[in-house]
Amino acid sequence: MVFSLPVLPQPRTLPGPVLVERASPRSVRLSLTDRCDMACVYCRPSLRDGYLPAEDRLDPAQWEILVRGLVAQGVRRVRITGGEPLLFKGLVDVIARLRDLGVEDLALTTNASRLEHLAAPLRAAGLHRLNVSIDSLDAGTFARITRGGRLEEVLRGVDAALAQGFQEVKSNTVVLRGLNEHEPEDIVRWAWARGITPRFIEIMGVGEGGRIWKDRLVPAAETRRSIAHLLRDGNASQEPDRGPARYVPSRVLPGARVGFISGSTDTYCDGCDRLRATSDGVLRPCLSTNDGVSVAEDLKAGAGPEVVGERLREAWALKPDGRWKGCTEHTARAVNMRATGG
Ligand code: SAM
Repeated sequence: MVFSLPVLPQPRTLPGPVLVERASPRSVRLSLTDRCDMACVYCRPSLRDGYLPAEDRLDPAQWEILVRGLVAQGVRRVRITGGEPLLFKGLVDVIARLRDLGVEDLALTTNASRLEHLAAPLRAAGLHRLNVSIDSLDAGTFARITRGGRLEEVLRGVDAALAQGFQEVKSNTVVLRGLNEHEPEDIVRWAWARGITPRFIEIMGVGEGGRIWKDRLVPAAETRRSIAHLLRDGNASQEPDRGPARYVPSRVLPGARVGFISGSTDTYCDGCDRLRATSDGVLRPCLSTNDGVSVAEDLKAGAGPEVVGERLREAWALKPDGRWKGCTEHTARAVNMRATGG
């Protein structure tokens, strides 16, 4: 089934997204659940906005078939996200099912509120890498940005993860004007002291971000200038096959670096090989639109990986050849970031 959720009308002066055939996707983000125990101001309007019915969520066996189908079509990197993936009861089972499917990189993005208890089982199940979202090291600012998140829980979760020896731990910080724009240096020093790679993300006009991004945006170039004394001069470089982040080496700590993700002042649609799969089984080719192809009915009817491959081809054909600005601003704003998975 191909469908589009309703979106705001597009401005007539700007070209609409062009549907193009692209090379098959190489990476996928699985949003296991749309539930989250935080309500970050740029992601969702409150802690009480509605969730999908629980029975619509795929179960671990269905996720396994879905990923088998994607791997058969060339997907090599899997990131588990949400919502908050640690709230999904079958998370450890999902990781254990995916570990031997031929995936080169199996990573997870989390707010870490429950990581203290889950770090060890996740590592044992075969998870390779972790990204932890942490927007402030000040408990009050953290609670304000996340609408009630408890910093001390997150810090305990990070410590637990570091004790497990994951291949890599990164931190993600959305830099927000008037809230945490003065914190990058503290966050870099905190992260480097623990062997964590800090990354700074521009707020994007996706979902709730569409309401506030123009007031809150701190360009990545400005964040970089604010910590220039810690970084080498020169161009930032991308990690091959690892998404749009650009990294700058430390000038004070050999081997350390800082990542920047500039989804608002820059575009990276051209090289995008990323697919998303939502908790209710919709394959979505672009974060900035609600377009997608559902594979849920097929999976519930017992379909195998080959049917997932067919749905993937239908979904990938919908990938817009667009830009973050202009024609996609309206569709991006209509996206539910919490359900789609950042
Ligand atoms: N709950 C998990 C977490 O907090 O990491 C995973 C889901 S969350 C949607 C994934 C990432 O998306 C987080 O790092 C969050 O900061 C980022 N994010 C959400 N909305 C965003 C926006 N409008 N602009 C930029 N980043 C955003």
